[in-house]
Amino acid sequence: MSFPVHNSFGLPVQADAVYPVHTLEQLRERLQVMSAAPLIVGAGSNMLFVSERLQVPVLMPLLKGIQYRDEADEPDAVLVDVGAGEVWHELVLDSLQKGLCGLENLSLIPGTVGAAPIQNIGAYGVEVKERIVAVAGVDLYTGELRELDNAECQFAYRDSVFKRKLKDRFMVTSVRFRLHRRAPLQTHYEALAHELARHPEQPLTARRISDAVIAVRRARLPDPVLLGNAGSFFKNPVVETDIYLSLLQRYPDMPHYPQSNGQIKLAAGWLIDRAGLKGIRRGAAGTHAQQALVIVNHGGASGQDILNIAREVRDTVLDKFAVALQPEVRLLDEQAQDIVL
Ligand code: NAP
Repeated sequence: MSFPVHNSFGLPVQADAVYPVHTLEQLRERLQVMSAAPLIVGAGSNMLFVSERLQVPVLMPLLKGIQYRDEADEPDAVLVDVGAGEVWHELVLDSLQKGLCGLENLSLIPGTVGAAPIQNIGAYGVEVKERIVAVAGVDLYTGELRELDNAECQFAYRDSVFKRKLKDRFMVTSVRFRLHRRAPLQTHYEALAHELARHPEQPLTARRISDAVIAVRRARLPDPVLLGNAGSFFKNPVVETDIYLSLLQRYPDMPHYPQSNGQIKLAAGWLIDRAGLKGIRRGAAGTHAQQALVIVNHGGASGQDILNIAREVRDTVLDKFAVALQPEVRLLDEQAQDIVL
């Protein structure tokens, strides 16, 4: 007997056991019958399974519920407790429907609410860490229910304690957010500002930002239902000033974003594009024609095909720019062990 493991690359992955988890009680029962340490898979939208057969059990957090309550000492703020199995974009839309702002820039990001804190999802100048109050979950080693406050989550760029010390041992069951009825809106990303400028007569609201983000994403990013992908495959590299300056001499038009610590963030998509790899195709795997940072499955690619093209991209960018790209997507073998790119 085997069960399909959903993944947004559209790979035909199977596991011997897949355990949906709807309640904490069910999780406790599951943990008692499991013979090996499980892999936790939400929507599988940030994972590349290189093997089609997973030899570890899979836990799928499906806990539901969205509860809003006013925050006692901050009249404008609302606390929102959300089950890990809720679909991220549906939470964004629900909060906007309630007249709340804070999540609009994160519209249309694939995946579940429980996965959002793991890699600290971010888009158009907002990271989810700015909205998270606490993350609750179960330590799979001890069975203990824990709540980590924002500082304990150790959030960083596409990173958190859940990818480090608590990796594969903490199943997020719910996330608490703090949203506001009124808050400063973030519109400084060029693509977003450009989209909003098409209708300058319309008042700027969180809902309008969400609509603009959705329009920009739909225009630039492939829908995983139609074309298998996991969003940005690589993180944007952050380099020291001397490396940035020597690159800038050779590529004066190179996009660059100074960071608060003095380092410079480069755009991985631009580097891949300038390395001549935008829209390349190797069999059924390729890079997306509109956004080189996205690796796609044109249909029938294997996990190994996707891994091979990721390695080609990494090697070519390293040769041309001497910048080492790191994957944002998690690469897993049949034992759910991380593969080094
Ligand atoms: P873009 O507008 O082509 O810009 C390329 C990169 O430059 C972005 O990744 C962004 O970094 C950075 N950037 C652009 N404007 C910036 C500014 N004003 N200040 C600081 N950094 C800036 O990017 P895109 O690929 O279409 O993506 C747009 C947004 O959606 C980005 O925030 C991106 O992270 C997010 N996104 C995320 C995923 C994912 O799978 N994680 C997939 C698609 C898009 P940052 O990435 O650090 O923002």
